[in-house]
Amino acid sequence: MGQVMDDELKQELTNWLQFYRELGIEEFYRRDPGALTSTEPIQPSPARLSAVREDSPVVTHGRPPLPRRTTSPAALEGTTVATAASPPRTDVPQTAVPAAPIRPPVPTLNLFEAPGPKPGGPETLEQIRADLGDCHRCKLAGGRKNIVFGEGNPHAELVFVGEGPGADEDEQGLPFVGRAGQLLNRMIQMIDMKRQEVYICNVVKCRPPGNRAPEKDEIEACSPFLFRQLEAIKPRLICCLGAPAVKTVLGIKEGITKIHGQFFDFATSKALATVHPAYVLRNPREEKILREDFEKIRKFLKGK
Ligand code: URA
Repeated sequence: MGQVMDDELKQELTNWLQFYRELGIEEFYRRDPGALTSTEPIQPSPARLSAVREDSPVVTHGRPPLPRRTTSPAALEGTTVATAASPPRTDVPQTAVPAAPIRPPVPTLNLFEAPGPKPGGPETLEQIRADLGDCHRCKLAGGRKNIVFGEGNPHAELVFVGEGPGADEDEQGLPFVGRAGQLLNRMIQMIDMKRQEVYICNVVKCRPPGNRAPEKDEIEACSPFLFRQLEAIKPRLICCLGAPAVKTVLGIKEGITKIHGQFFDFATSKALATVHPAYVLRNPREEKILREDFEKIRKFLKGK
């Protein structure tokens, strides 16, 4: 916003005052004029997105139309606010009559300007993939051959989340196609499912060099895409394979050997943690953990 109120803003304010006058509200407190000339930039942040401004009419950057009197003044009392969880409705005024004092419209970030998923219904995996593009959001981009987005049934009841692609996955652009993938396939078959029925993806979509664990900044850059994938698929069960997946999806830092086989809530899904197949390849005696946990998956999906 410029230093001085621009003509458009003045006109808008005049219209607001007219609107309140029509509602029978004539007296307003005056606001310190200095506050109208603030040059402080508006910082886009999730907190702004969901911030509830109880003391002022909410007017977004996109300048919604002035409220039309489609609702009785009584119904307008209180404050209607757009939050990340409740996209703004276009059929009702996105504002209301505040008790006091009246302040001029303050631009805030609205959902349509926010980074990440756009409102207007669930995203498809194709849309999320398109948004990922030729990703260079983190340093893993420099060493990859292929982005390994994920593979499988977009309506899967069961989603597996691994850690990150290895050499084979990087080569082919597909998740779990190496030795760990073969073990995963065997486990999927053991519970009478087919690989094509499930969806398989990873916490990070590019291969960490030397198969090291993904680093914090890489997970931070990439995990929003994982969460969007999970939101698009809405599986009944998410199976986290190994500690990085458990930590990213569930925020649990406890050792996997302690919490494996337990069910947790994740949005509308359940989530279960188990050991990573690569860990079992290195420690063959631990295969029984994987088998036991897969039996739990089978029972859960059968509703037993
Ligand atoms: N390990 C993983 O975590 N993901 C893969 O895709 C392959 C191996």
